[in-house]
Parts: sequence; structure tokens; C-alpha cells
Amino acid sequence: MYNGIAASRGIGIGSICVIKEHDLSYESRKIEDVEGEQKRFNDAVEKFKKETSEMAEDIRKRIGPKEAEILEGHLVMISDPTMAGEMGKMIAAGQCAEAAVEAVCDMFIGMFSKMDDELMQQRASDISDIKISLLKNLLGIEDVDISKVPQGTVLVAKDLTPSMTSQIVKDNVAGIITEVGGKTSHSAILARALEIPAVLSVPDATTLVKDKDTAIVDGTEGVVYINPDGDVLSKYIIKREDFIKKQSELAAFQGKETVTADGINLELFCNIGTPKDAKKAVECDGEGIGLFRSEFLFMDNNHMPTEDEQFAAYKEAAEILGGKPVIIRTLDIGGDKDIPYLNMKKEENPFLGYRAVRYCLGNKDSYLIQLRAIVRASAFGKVKIMVPLVTCVEEIRQVKELVAQIKKDFDEKGIAYDKDIEVGCMIETPAASLIADLLAKEADFFSIGTNDLTQYTMSVDRGNADVAYLYSTFQPAVLRSIKHIIECGRNAGIPVGMCGEAAADPLMIPLLISYGLTEFSVNPVLVLTARCIISKWSKAEADALAEKVMALSTESEIQSLLKESAKE
Ligand code: PEP
Ligand code: MG
Repeated sequence: MYNGIAASRGIGIGSICVIKEHDLSYESRKIEDVEGEQKRFNDAVEKFKKETSEMAEDIRKRIGPKEAEILEGHLVMISDPTMAGEMGKMIAAGQCAEAAVEAVCDMFIGMFSKMDDELMQQRASDISDIKISLLKNLLGIEDVDISKVPQGTVLVAKDLTPSMTSQIVKDNVAGIITEVGGKTSHSAILARALEIPAVLSVPDATTLVKDKDTAIVDGTEGVVYINPDGDVLSKYIIKREDFIKKQSELAAFQGKETVTADGINLELFCNIGTPKDAKKAVECDGEGIGLFRSEFLFMDNNHMPTEDEQFAAYKEAAEILGGKPVIIRTLDIGGDKDIPYLNMKKEENPFLGYRAVRYCLGNKDSYLIQLRAIVRASAFGKVKIMVPLVTCVEEIRQVKELVAQIKKDFDEKGIAYDKDIEVGCMIETPAASLIADLLAKEADFFSIGTNDLTQYTMSVDRGNADVAYLYSTFQPAVLRSIKHIIECGRNAGIPVGMCGEAAADPLMIPLLISYGLTEFSVNPVLVLTARCIISKWSKAEADALAEKVMALSTESEIQSLLKESAKE
């Protein structure tokens, strides 16, 4: 068994075809006929451009415009005067075209690959792809035609370049294994777009295997088996069937409403960290954003983002969602989230310290900047404010007071905003849960943060492996707390959502339906799974199960009963 990066989900089983690297060696020579060499170079570039734009067009038609952009990017790069200009200069100085291409490309590859940014690294691999194509053209080497591989082929390559991928016939390629590449590399993006299971970054993959070996590619777990024994093979054949069945079942939920088996409509939102994720949420069919973790904007910066910078990010998310709710959580730092430029004090107990709303209310100037940015963004969609780590009524009152001040200021200055902008409260501490009835009178909505609620209720550091056995949302203490919070919200007539990880847990979903949760906020990739599970439970069935669960005394009894009752 070999491990790699799980880059495209699914199980592929098939016969290996190793894509050998071409020998691109050449003899570096001094050129007398500079004009002739320049023409040879120009012809190679023209051939590259022609083939690349044909491939881009083909990818656009077969896969999609976003994926075609990768190859179009190559065209832009080769047309960049710096790159071609540098190569031309070297040829003019008497270098052969191959040496000019190699030297200039290697210079850019070296520059980009040193940068600590995945996009820049990707640019290095784009230039490497361009270099290989140009050298092949100059040396008259023809590519292996991947479009001719038979059905059930598992492709094994050092890297799968966009040019190779454009030849893939989806029905013939069962899986992809490469030696390099990460989750966001072009090969990963294209494999996902083609829905071909792929495991990348398997060290020495091309030398470990030979043509016609049998391979299992588990693109969900990032695992590869070569010539597996009968038991492993049969296990994976069943796994593959299950995956295919589940996928087709899930596809049926795309574009549908989120409803229980007996027709209760629920909201299925997404958790995001950046405006870019908002696009993903929409693509994954999220019905809104239930948690925009605004701290990522602060963490990805070397300075405190200005009001305008924050406004731009919140507005972008609001516009992407096109009027659907976007719940922006105000800065939740401290605990395990440090932001170096804020120079926060080291604390003995950071999880119990100066964090989240406590820090914000203690640093009102910067908090006002964030709240102003959010309120301004409310003119561009259905934006809501959510306050993290609330433990007492004063905190939510103070935030509402700041929002009221901002509204007054905006009215005076004629700055547009949504007059009905809501201010909600995260319930993620035992204190907030115990006074949920009081908080419900102040807040416009609740969202339960089970990640922290579990940590604080169980007195367990959520990142400490030694006590991880206690960190479970299925602990009776946590379940009682969740049920109580939802009841308090319902009694006060405010909506209650959940944005902790538990909202997407298939075992938890029936309990949440029974308790009366109305909004589930999950990772975008889990939207369809959550919608599918919700559709399988009626309120009456969920109530019957919840009644039994709430009568049990231990976490393990609860988990066992929920597993037995799970609907596949
Ligand atoms: C939570 O605590 O459940 C939550 C959603 O917030 P975070 O995981 O960002 O602390
Ligand atoms: Mg939290």
C-alpha cells in the first residue's frame, strides 16, 4: 500500500499504463545562422500556441471554461514579452534555441518555486509544462496519445500536465497516480472536473510500477494498492460500488430544497473563511452562509485589514450569495488562533482568556472598524452579524449598542446599509447555554458552535489527543445542552442554527431535527450529503429516536443506538 494526497474522490481499479518521461537531452551548440535559429524557435512557439489553444478549446467544450483557463494561462505566459524576449536575446547571442528555452524557463521556475505560496509554486509547474512542450517541438518528439488508452486504464505519470489531461477520455481512465502535485495543482483540478479518482504525490510512483500491473486508486483516502491480493480487491470492488451508488443518489439532491421526509423545510448553509469559499458554497448548492469565519482575513494579512479591505471582502461574499443570507462572525481570535501583528499577550489559559468578543469589546476602535465594514456590506445582500463566545447578556447588548451607533452615523452621512440587519449570538459556552432564555430576548438568532460547546461543556481542550476520548458531541451533557438551547430559541421565537461540525454529522442530524433546529451550516462539500440524510427522516421518527437517546446514560450507548438506527 502506498500513501499519497487524496486529490479526486472515488475508487478506481484498473490496469496500469506508465507515461514515460521523454528524453529531452540535446547538444548545446553555438549558432552561426542566428536568423535560421530564430525561425526554428518561432516555429516551435507557434506550434505550441496552436496546439495549446486547440486543447484549451477542447477542454472548454468537454470539461468547462474554468479548467480551460489553465491552458489559456500557458498561452498568456508564452506570449509575455519578457519570457519570449529573453529567449530571443540568447538566440541572438548565438545560443541554440533549446538552450535558450531551457535557461529562461529554469530561471523563472527557480524564482517561482522558491516562493512560499501555492499559486506561485503552481506557476513554476506551468512554466515547466511550457518548457517541456517547447523542447519537444524543437526536438521533433511526438507525445504519447493518451486518448488511445483502453477502458479501465490507471495512468501513472511523474506529473499529469494539462496538455496530457486534455487527451483523457473519461470513460477509459479509471484512475490517476502521479509523483508530484497537491490538492490544488492543475492535475488535481482537472481530475476532479473529470471525476476520475486520483492520488497525487506518491513518491517514485513511475518506478514502483510497470505496465499492466493492477492498481487500486482510492482517491478519497489517498491510498494506492499495486497488484492487491484477492481480499483487498474484493473489498475495494464493493467500496467502488458503494461510492458510485452514493454519488448518483447525492446528485439527485443538487438544486433541491432541504426537506425532511414529512415535508418540513430546513435551511442548509455553509461555513466559509474567504469570499472565494463563498463561490464554492454556491457551486455546492449551499442556501446561504451560516458562518463566515472573518478571522481568516486577519490571519492572511501582515497588518490589520482596513475598513475598506474588510468591506470589499464582506461585500464580495454578499454579492456572490445574491441575496441569500451571509452570517459574518466578528473576529474570533485568541484561544488557538494567534495573529502576530496584534501582539496579544501570552496567557496561561488562552481558551479561557482574552479572546473573541472579550478581546473585541476591549479593543473597541478596531471592533468598530469591523462592524462598520459589515454594516456597509449589508447594503449588498442579506448580511447578518454574529458574535462569538458570548457568556453574558452584557456582551450582546454592548455589540448591539455599537451597531446602533454605527447606524446612526451612517444615517447622518447617508451611507447605505440594511436597516434590519440582524445581530445574532453564537452559543458555544456552557454559560450561554444556561442563560439561553435570557440571551434569546436580546439576540435576533442563535447559532450553536458545537466545536467549542463540546470543549467547554466537557472541560476538554479540543486539540489535546490525551483527552480526546471525552471530546464528543454525543456526550449526554452536550446533547442536553444543545436540546436546551434550541428550546430556548424556539420559545422566544428566534431561529436557531448550528455551525459547529456536528451539524453535518449523519448520526447527529435526526437528533437536531427532533430538537427543532432550523438551520444547518456545514462545509460546502457536505451540503448534498446533509440534504440527503435530512430527507430520510420524518419528525416523528426523529422524535422517537431522540426520546430513546435522551434516556441513555453514556456516550457509547448513544453512539451505538444512533449507528444502529442510521439510514443508509
Ligand atoms: C464552533 O466552536 O463550533 C465554531 C463553529 O467555531 P470555531 O470552530 O471557529 O471555533
Ligand atoms: Mg467556536
